[in-house]
Amino acid sequence: MDPKHIRNFSIIAHIDHGKSTLADRMLEITGTIDKRRMRDRLLDDMDLERERGITIKARAVTIYHVKDGEKYQLNLIDTPGHVDFNYEVEKSLQACEGALLLVDASQGVEAQTVANAYLAIEANLEIIPVLNKIDLPHARPDEIAEEIENSLGLDGTNALAVSAKTGAGVSEVLDALVEQVPAPTGDPAAPLRALIFDAVYDEFRGIIVYLRVFDGTIREKERIRMMSAGKVFEALEVGRFNPKMDRSGALGAGEVGYFISNIKTLGDVAVGDTLTLDKGPVVKPLPGYRPAVHMVYADFYPTNNGDFEELREALSTLKLSDSALDFAPVTSDALGFGFRCGFLGLLHMEIVQQRLEREHDLDLIQTAPTVTYRIVNHDGSEREIHSPGQLPDPDKFESILEPIARVSIMVPAEYIGTVMQIAIEHRGVYVRQEYVSATRVQLTYDIPMAEIIYDFYDKLKSSTRGYGTMNYELLDFQAGDLVKLRVLVNSADVDALSSICHKDQADYRGRQTIKKLRKEIPRHMFEVPLQAAVGGRIIARETIRAMRKDVTAKCYGGDITRKRKLLEKQKAGKRRMRSVGNVDIPQKAFLAVLGDK
Ligand code: GDP
Ligand code: MG
Repeated sequence: MDPKHIRNFSIIAHIDHGKSTLADRMLEITGTIDKRRMRDRLLDDMDLERERGITIKARAVTIYHVKDGEKYQLNLIDTPGHVDFNYEVEKSLQACEGALLLVDASQGVEAQTVANAYLAIEANLEIIPVLNKIDLPHARPDEIAEEIENSLGLDGTNALAVSAKTGAGVSEVLDALVEQVPAPTGDPAAPLRALIFDAVYDEFRGIIVYLRVFDGTIREKERIRMMSAGKVFEALEVGRFNPKMDRSGALGAGEVGYFISNIKTLGDVAVGDTLTLDKGPVVKPLPGYRPAVHMVYADFYPTNNGDFEELREALSTLKLSDSALDFAPVTSDALGFGFRCGFLGLLHMEIVQQRLEREHDLDLIQTAPTVTYRIVNHDGSEREIHSPGQLPDPDKFESILEPIARVSIMVPAEYIGTVMQIAIEHRGVYVRQEYVSATRVQLTYDIPMAEIIYDFYDKLKSSTRGYGTMNYELLDFQAGDLVKLRVLVNSADVDALSSICHKDQADYRGRQTIKKLRKEIPRHMFEVPLQAAVGGRIIARETIRAMRKDVTAKCYGGDITRKRKLLEKQKAGKRRMRSVGNVDIPQKAFLAVLGDK
């Protein structure tokens, strides 16, 4: 199609502001999908996505819209709304010339509205503000338009007002896209230059590469080179998403679609890489890509030691469809053989854990998430560690550097004091405060990443009655007064229960940990001391008293089946225990200490 009749755009929004619903309405109104076959959030097709109402992977779909008798091809590139997946948002935006900035007219501008809008501004996109959910009785479109002006400096006066639910105003949005978003400017006659903005693993088709053609044309049977990766593949199938894969044989300058080749794993495809013809003249690559940054690490151990190989296979299978996931084998005295995994963030970690348990039927023990720390050695060299167990003794290194995030928090003004309090408790350093309207404020703090994954976000949500939203990005690494909090059960170190924390928090966290453990470890035939320590200094201690009599004693002389049942129950319970020294620690105890704080 003539690039003059093509428009490429994204919808950017804070989570739950209606992006998927608006996409549904656009597919319906343009007749891309038959009303009878319509189901909610059509583009969110992974089970977990639908269930949790989030969009994990970017999606693309081609729709056609007629305006003033001319037919236009509109390529909608859906982006994930969650901060863990910001890199994918960035790449999707680079495939577009425009973006709809969708804001819930009853909620207003939220932290991720701002973060995503800035990404779109940086990518030089034409931004069209759209106020959604105007069917709600408490919608305040005028006030929210003002918030858009104040927080983003965009003109809010001609924001479109829509209801993605009823469809009101949606065809005006399609008209606005044609009028306001610039047509792609690529050169159809130039050699092929295309951006990989996403890739997914499909059980039946293999790897499907999502691409946006900037110059030239991509055709089936051509040999395609991935410029940074240096790999060459034959394009076996080329097409568009309508929204199902629709083979077209070729994609021209300005178009968005996919190609399939005999690529086996997602690891072979680098999102952000430039595609060109293997035999063609050299072209300048599009603005570069960077590898995924792992913000959070945690270890997974199978509850049953025998499931180690199954866990390895499950992780390998997941990795096919999630190239951001990283894993390597680890061993622990307490937990046996497992894997240390790297994640983009906490949500990413939760999704992986749930997919392992659900799709692969594995029972897992997961250690507390940790961030990456950098150890500065005496000679000035640095190395990274990803678990408390890797932290050397204090005299073996010069200092520890921890990752610091710049966090922007959006809250109603009455919660400013509350947020400041939470930020201080989490070692936050104040950066600035800006009013986006008379009643809403954006607060910026620099907060250690470890505090954010500890419980900062939960605290923010619960103490602002859900109104506080936040977004963060990695700022840098800074030296911190950090110590390893050891946990000893019957005088033996249990590395899997240890953690790294700030010196000032060690006493409190140590006491909390020991209290929780005490509740979960059953009595033994002997006394079991539980201790928390920093270095050689014991900071908390509890004792589990010895058991006095045999559990089966009360059954003596009684009914034999009852006794057998009791023994069987004990045996089953035992399987979910780990022995450290000669103390049995139930899985529940690990979960209590490592899980919710
Ligand atoms: P996303 O997270 O931005 O993709 O948001 P969704 O499209 O999943 O929508 C979040 C929730 O808002 C869902 O329960 C939708 O039914 C609802 N929603 C979306 N648009 C509208 C609208 O225009 N009016 C009303 N009343 N609800 C809407
Ligand atoms: Mg969605």
